[in-house]
Amino acid sequence: AAQTMEQLVSLCKRRGFIFPGSAVYGGLQGTYDYGPLGVELKNNLKFAWWRANVWEREDMEGIDAAILMNKLTWRYSGHEETFVDPMVDCKNCKMRWRADQISGKCPNCASTELTEPRPFNLMFKTQIGPVPDPESFSYLRPETAQGIFVNFKHVLDSTSRKLPFGIAQIGKAFRNEITPRNFIFRVREFEQMEIEFFVRPGEDEGWHKKWVEDRINWWLSVGLSRENLQPYHQKPEELAHYAKATVDLLYRFPHGLEELEGIANRTDYDLGSHSKDQGSLGLKARVSPNSHSTDKLSYFDPETKQHVVPFVIEPSAGVDRGVLALLSEAYAEEQVKPAPADRLKPVEEALGTFLKSVGRNEKIPAQAKEALIAEGERIAQALGERLPSIAGLLSMPGAESIEVAKKLRGQVDPVVDEFYRTVLHFKPHLAPIKVAVLPLKKNHPEIVSTAKSIRRKLQSTGAMRIVYDDTGAIGKLYRRQDEIGTPFCITVDFDTLGEGKDAALKDTVTVRHRDSMAQERVAISELETYLREKMQ
Ligand code: ATP
Repeated sequence: AAQTMEQLVSLCKRRGFIFPGSAVYGGLQGTYDYGPLGVELKNNLKFAWWRANVWEREDMEGIDAAILMNKLTWRYSGHEETFVDPMVDCKNCKMRWRADQISGKCPNCASTELTEPRPFNLMFKTQIGPVPDPESFSYLRPETAQGIFVNFKHVLDSTSRKLPFGIAQIGKAFRNEITPRNFIFRVREFEQMEIEFFVRPGEDEGWHKKWVEDRINWWLSVGLSRENLQPYHQKPEELAHYAKATVDLLYRFPHGLEELEGIANRTDYDLGSHSKDQGSLGLKARVSPNSHSTDKLSYFDPETKQHVVPFVIEPSAGVDRGVLALLSEAYAEEQVKPAPADRLKPVEEALGTFLKSVGRNEKIPAQAKEALIAEGERIAQALGERLPSIAGLLSMPGAESIEVAKKLRGQVDPVVDEFYRTVLHFKPHLAPIKVAVLPLKKNHPEIVSTAKSIRRKLQSTGAMRIVYDDTGAIGKLYRRQDEIGTPFCITVDFDTLGEGKDAALKDTVTVRHRDSMAQERVAISELETYLREKMQ
């Protein structure tokens, strides 16, 4: 697993998983763009969730609701009034912080002169329509859930579902976070994968428990390890006002153990809040009176011949936090063979010089300096194991302004190339690219055309993303595919053409496995079946 966020940030930028948003204009805080590999990884994660929760269950329907909703939605959901974080200002440096995320001290300038916390609403307000009339506004949705609640009746009527059943949705959400941070962990634009599961009142506690187990098992199925995943039962005083119980699934991210998903028992609060004639519904939750809704969001139970407002169990996961967890879990820097002392020595010296130079530099802000030196010293203490992390160190804020950084990189790169590899050990079904087809020689027309035709043929099955790559020597190509998590490489060589020592190898290729680096020979005609089996 990754030890620091820098390792991931650096790999993601270098290889095209995730870029800082709007970079050519100096960026936009709290936004990130998914690059060529990131979009594949994210799509694979979302599809795995959809398949497990919608296709493979018999009690679920999917929807895709609009991001913009009538502003009354946000009044009656409670967001206008209560979707707030406590904000404080530092009187010294004027920075703003979320009061519950700092401990009485400004993280920027260490001043303890802070204002009293005041509520800050996290919704982005936006004008709707061409006339800037003060009433023509709404908000970008801060969660996808409300799109499900307002469609409860539509789904019920169009599918004839019986309780218990759920509605699932994946989509963008926006929150004007006071302090976005930790890469894609806390951002202002993100995606959620949410389920609202409707059950009979009285059956809610059993279903809540079951969903917690289901969701843990699903995260394990995409490759997270049990020891990095920890359910946390919120204490009564921590619960949101509408929740009867909430279990957070915490994941050990590089920056600490933090929420990946929340699974709440929201009772009949949501459907009740958006209903008309609330007095006739026998609601258990305390809701604000609704004078605008045009429908009763209840369910006619054919068994008891009564109208009930279902209770809701809500497993709500962040896609971006999921991607970050996958990257972190999958990340490894491995020694392929031990680097001899005389090759490590110059790197050690260059690292020492670099850190001294950081220490002396007056232009690097104190916080960045501290972070650089701490990470540099951690690497230095276990240089043999951590040497590839120097690439991450050199991409940290402030590092680029150091003269000797170039020299350090010059010392490190050849040693890394020879003795180490960085690997993303993704489960095959999540890997952005499943197979890379490589020609042993890129200036040999027959090897090249055979490799290209294998790629075309495998790609035409539509089951997976396959690439052709001839931009380096074979060893370098393997390393590059390891670094982006490609589980299989296929190499076409002289044996494939029947021009090697062993004529029996004609029409076979080498399949190289990412994790074990083992190689085996497979007939071209068997490749499709072989790969399909491995991809399960
Ligand atoms: P936090 O306490 O970390 O702010 P939350 O409890 O407000 O999170 P929920 O409202 O429960 O979060 O949202 C459900 C899920 O949406 C979270 O578990 C998380 O995965 C994701 N999520 C929420 N806010 C963000 C954000 N700013 N950036 C990325 N993902 C987020």
